[in-house]
Amino acid sequence: MLSTTPTMKFFSTIPRTTQLLLGLASGMLASLIAARASEPASPDQVAQAAASPKEIQAHLSAGNARYVAGKSLSRDWAAERAKTAKAQYPVAVVLSCIDSRVSSEVIFDQGFGELFNARVAGNVIDDDLLGSMEFACKPAGAKLIAVVGHSHCGAVKGACNGVELGHLTGLLAKIQPAVAQTRAKEPSLLPNDEKFIASVAELNVRHTMAQIRERSPVLRDLIDSGQVGLIGGIYDLDSGRVTFLQN
Ligand SMILES: [Zn+2]
Repeated sequence: MLSTTPTMKFFSTIPRTTQLLLGLASGMLASLIAARASEPASPDQVAQAAASPKEIQAHLSAGNARYVAGKSLSRDWAAERAKTAKAQYPVAVVLSCIDSRVSSEVIFDQGFGELFNARVAGNVIDDDLLGSMEFACKPAGAKLIAVVGHSHCGAVKGACNGVELGHLTGLLAKIQPAVAQTRAKEPSLLPNDEKFIASVAELNVRHTMAQIRERSPVLRDLIDSGQVGLIGGIYDLDSGRVTFLQN
């Protein structure tokens, strides 16, 4: 059997297709493939501590690639439940929309114990969500924050069109900075144009990322010291692909 460093142990919990996508050194990869059958596995505490934010982003990209290809892992949910019932060591927290078509575990092909999920219409931020992310990243040890918006987002469309309804009015106001930025950037576009809506979705993700850094000293310290990564992405409802934003 392999003698594994903690980092290798993290990778050894990743199924064969993911290892291939991550492009591990060929000798190590061959050994890992020979030593392990393809099986989903939840991260343990050592793996969580050893994984870097970059490795976790690659892990999520590989999971999304499996999902897009229709090759999501076959999971024994009862076994995963039993394995994670006593403790959890998720590697990432994903802030995404409540949209019924954007479930993080599904689109990143992850199981129980792998992701913290924070969901709210329009993937905006408030103090409770910041507190949840602080919990996820500080005491619970997650190494990556991913803010994931999506195409055809109803909340983004509502903000573009100035929708007002009960508590939704205040929520959509949090998307208005992205609407104003888009209006300034693309003055010829109308709020219902696909391009306008896509721009607001992306700028809203970037605005949420900036808010996370600005409003949470706890998270900012973790991010600035490199202990936790902060990335943004857009999920395409048609293709299933998550495109991570470049800086
Ligand atoms: Zn949405």
